[in-house]
Amino acid sequence: MSKPPTLSFFGATGTVTGSRYLLSHRRARAMIDCGLFQGFKQLRLRNWSPPPIAPAAITSMALTHAHIDHSGYLPIIVRDGYRGRVLCTGGTAELCALLLPDSGRLQELDAEYANRKGFSKHRPALPLYGEADAMEAVARLKEVAFDTPRELDDDMEIRFIRAGHILGASSIHLRYRGGSILFSGDVGRPDDPLMRAPEPRQASDYLVVESTYGDRKHDRTPPEEALADVINRTHERGGSVIIPAFAVGRTQLILLLVDRLKAARKIPDLPVFLDSPMAIAATSTFYRHRDTHRLSEKECERMCNASRYIRDAEDSKALDTGDKPMILISASGMATGGRIVHHLKALAPDPRNTILFTGFQAGGTRGAAMVGGAKQIKIHGQYVAVNAEVAALEMLSAHADADELIAWLRTCDDKPRHTFVTHGEPAASDALRRRIQEELGWAVSVPDYRDEVALL
Ligand SMILES: [Zn+2]
Repeated sequence: MSKPPTLSFFGATGTVTGSRYLLSHRRARAMIDCGLFQGFKQLRLRNWSPPPIAPAAITSMALTHAHIDHSGYLPIIVRDGYRGRVLCTGGTAELCALLLPDSGRLQELDAEYANRKGFSKHRPALPLYGEADAMEAVARLKEVAFDTPRELDDDMEIRFIRAGHILGASSIHLRYRGGSILFSGDVGRPDDPLMRAPEPRQASDYLVVESTYGDRKHDRTPPEEALADVINRTHERGGSVIIPAFAVGRTQLILLLVDRLKAARKIPDLPVFLDSPMAIAATSTFYRHRDTHRLSEKECERMCNASRYIRDAEDSKALDTGDKPMILISASGMATGGRIVHHLKALAPDPRNTILFTGFQAGGTRGAAMVGGAKQIKIHGQYVAVNAEVAALEMLSAHADADELIAWLRTCDDKPRHTFVTHGEPAASDALRRRIQEELGWAVSVPDYRDEVALL
């Protein structure tokens, strides 16, 4: 008998970042997702060590969606020797073409800034990869339509299934000789105001499921109401609302909600600035991918016109010196990099302001520290006081909460032979594991980093 396939967990174990899985079967070495690690230093250091498999030995790749923690390591794998294509949906390809070069550019800028100011321990500070590496990776992307089986590798067939979450986001169903496996990707929400609900779960022998909010339930307050409250109480203090947001996804949701709230006169007519060239570009992609979101063309247009776009770095700096209340949206969503870091340096010390987080904050990030009540954060080697109000509206998240994950698992009667819970911090993954075992009666486990399991 031939050797059974093996599944290796090269990331998203004990963390929501660094999603990378390898399915090995016969000659095939198929990598699903290729994300960057973020947050705690010991995780980030993994981005710098040689990958657990030589890139030249990987025979095929596919991405569930474009978020950097699922795609941001691709430039390294390509630079270091992967020669094949990377299959993904059209929305993912389009967003990766924006996000990956931006990620390279940001790393180059951060390294250059660190060298200029001399605050890095590394001399010289180097980027993990640059814009040119990212462009090479983008050239490898190959679009595949949703719901259409395609050959991925030797004796392996792939199908992308809509997962809600963000534009182009998918679950990946892989059929190999003798079995099948479903990778949930990041599972969206049934009632997201922006994105469509995820498709029902597909039957498979094995399942890898995310658990970002595996131990939490989102507050059921309508997102519009919660957002209006934060904006209004900040406005009463004469302060500004500063929103760190992923360039793709939550930024667009905030624009949509702010526009609706203004039209209904539920918030004052404050200026709204979108200070992220990436988010600006991502917003316009909504016109082209109407099949994954809920907006009409007219609503897309309103969303695109709901803010003033800040492209120029000088205009971005000028926002920090004005004293007029505003709503300022800027990336990155966990305040790990990008222009938001500069804004926080200037605006976090002012107690009139609010810093509003709209998504999951991975452990070890500045975002997690602030949500956890840190009174100071370190930016560019200096401590910055956080006197502003810090709010986290998890109901704005693009991730299913624990109940919604269980409900999604129940959308198919077929029971997987084994389920692996990943993409969560340890408490979240373990809580979901327990619920799957107790409520669904499935065989389930939480794998560790670099575990390799045989799919018998
Ligand atoms: Zn995601």
